[in-house]
Amino acid sequence: TPLSTAQIRDRFLHFFESKGHLRLPSHPTVAPDPTTLFTVAGMQPFKPQFMGAAARFEQGESKRVTTAQKCIRVGDIENVGRTRRHLSLFEMMGNFSFGDYFKREAIAWAWEFLTGSEWMGMNAGQMYVTIYEDDDEAFGYWTQDIGLSADHIHRFGADENFWPADAPMKGPNGPCGPCSEIYYDRGPDYGDDTWADYYQTRESARFLEVWNLVFPQYDRQEPGPGGTPTLSDLPFKNIDTGMGLERVASVVQNVPDFYSNDVFLPLIDKIAELSGKPYEGEQSVSHRVVAEHIRAVSMTVADGVTLSNTGRGYVIRKILRRASRHAYLLGLREASIYKLVPLVVESMGEAYPELRENQSRIEKAIQGEEERFLRTLENGIQRLNTTLASIVLSSGHADASDFVATRFGSQIGDSAGQAVGFGQNQVKDGLVGGYNAFGPTGKQVEQLPVGLKLTLAGSEAFTLYGTYGFPIDLTREIAEEYGVSIDEAGFDKALAEDQELARAGSKYGKSELFGGADEALSDLSPTEFVGYGQLEAAGMVQ
Ligand code: ATP
Ligand code: MG
Ligand code: MG
Ligand code: MG
Repeated sequence: TPLSTAQIRDRFLHFFESKGHLRLPSHPTVAPDPTTLFTVAGMQPFKPQFMGAAARFEQGESKRVTTAQKCIRVGDIENVGRTRRHLSLFEMMGNFSFGDYFKREAIAWAWEFLTGSEWMGMNAGQMYVTIYEDDDEAFGYWTQDIGLSADHIHRFGADENFWPADAPMKGPNGPCGPCSEIYYDRGPDYGDDTWADYYQTRESARFLEVWNLVFPQYDRQEPGPGGTPTLSDLPFKNIDTGMGLERVASVVQNVPDFYSNDVFLPLIDKIAELSGKPYEGEQSVSHRVVAEHIRAVSMTVADGVTLSNTGRGYVIRKILRRASRHAYLLGLREASIYKLVPLVVESMGEAYPELRENQSRIEKAIQGEEERFLRTLENGIQRLNTTLASIVLSSGHADASDFVATRFGSQIGDSAGQAVGFGQNQVKDGLVGGYNAFGPTGKQVEQLPVGLKLTLAGSEAFTLYGTYGFPIDLTREIAEEYGVSIDEAGFDKALAEDQELARAGSKYGKSELFGGADEALSDLSPTEFVGYGQLEAAGMVQ
C-alpha cells in the first residue's frame, strides 16, 4: 500500500531530523507578522532568524529547523474546484538553515528525499527543475552533483524564480532570494505538452511543481516615495524550502489529484452520502469545493478565527458560504457541512491537536453560520420563484395549472406558489423528493413556443446577488427550470457599477453577505485587508 499523507509528513520531518534539524510545531494559520492575514509559507515564522537575530543563536537556538506548516492562501481560493493543484489550506513541508548549510546541501537533500527508495521513491527521470536566470551555482549542483541533464533544467526571471515572486521590484520588504523549483512529470496521461511547452505557457496539468528551494540572501528595503528599492546582503546566507505535502501525496499515491488521496476521499464519500449525489460529472465540482473548504474553515476556527464581517473572520466566512452554496447545489437543504468536521479531526487531529481540542466549538460555529446562510438563501429563493412565475405567466403561454414542483424551494415553496396563486404540490420525476417550490416542469418548458425568449432582468439578478447573497449560477440554474434566461449583460453591468462604487470608497454595496464567490475577494475593503493587498502585490498568491 502507498504511503499515507501522515506517513509522508512524518518521513519528511524524520529525514531532516536525521540531517541535524530540530523539528518545531506549525505556527497557527494566523500570520506571525503583519505582511499577510494568514500564514502563507513555512518561512514566515522565521523571518527574524533569516534577518540574523543574533540573540536567538546566542541562546543556543538551532540553526537547522524542520516543520510542517499549515498555510492559507487567500488568492488560491478561487482556484479551488478549478485547478486541481491549489488548495486554500495546505501543508508546506520545510527545512530551514539560518546561516548554516546553503544551496549544495539543500539541493542534494531535496533530491535524496524525493527519489531515494527508502523515502519517496519518485522516478528520477521524471524530475525537472527551474533556476534563477543567473544562478550558475545552482546549475552546477543540479548537473554535476545530481547528474540531471541540462535539458531538464530551465532558467526563469524574478517572476518565477525569485521568492517572493518579483520581490526586488514589488516587495514585500525583508528576506528574499533566488529559488530553484522541482517539478514532476506526471506523464502522458496528464497531457501531451512538453517541458518546453511548460515554460512557454507556464500552465500544465502534466508538470507539477512540488518543491521550492529558496536561497534567501537579501534584505529588501523600500526607500521613501520615488526611490528605488534596495537589496542588501543579509548577515548570512539562508535556506528556506517548501514542499507541497498534498501534491507529493498525490504523486506517491498515484492518484490524479488531491481529491482521490487518503485525506480527501473520506470527505468526498461523506458528501456523496449526505447529499445522495455521487461524485461524478459536472456536479463533482461541488463535492470538491465542500471537501476543500471544510478543512480551511475548521483549521482557522481552531486557531481562534471567529466568523465575522471583518478581517480574517470575513474571509473565512466567505469560504464557508461558498461551501454552503455548493452543498445547496447538491440538494442539501439543512446545515450539513458541520457533519464533516469529525473527519477533518480524524485525518489531521494527530498532527494538529488544536483541531481535537476545539472540535465541538468548530462544529457549533459552522452549523450556526450554515443555518443563517440557508435562511437568507431561502428568502432569496422565495423572491426568485415568485418573479420567475410571473414572468412565465405574463408571457401568456402558461397558466397556474402548468406549475408543479421543481428542485429548488424547500420550505418556502408553498408561499412562493401561493404568491402567484398555484396550489399543486407534485415532485418532478427523478429529483430528490420533498421539495415543493413551483415552476414549470421540464416538459412544460418544452411546450412553450419555440423561439419564445423570456428574460430575467439583470438588475433583479443583481439584487438577489447583492442583497440575498445569491450566487449568479444558482439564479441561472433555477431560471432555466422556468425556461427563463438571465440578462447576463445587464447583470455584468450592475456588478461592474457596484464594484466601481466599492472601489470609490462608498459605503454603498457593502451587503451583509458576500456576493458569490467567483470574483474571490475583490470586494474586501482595503483598510481591513492591507496585508492581503501587499501579499498579492508581492505575487505571493498567484
Ligand atoms: P503554484 O505555482 O503551483 O501556484 P507556488 O509557486 O505559488 O505554486 P510556492 O510559493 O513556491 O508555490 O510554495 C511552495 C510549494 O507549496 C509549491 O511548490 C507547492 O508544492 C505548494 N503549494 C503552493 N501553493 C499551493 C496550494 N494553493 N495548494 C497546495 N499546494 C501548494
Ligand atoms: Mg509556482
Ligand atoms: Mg513556487
Ligand atoms: Mg501559487
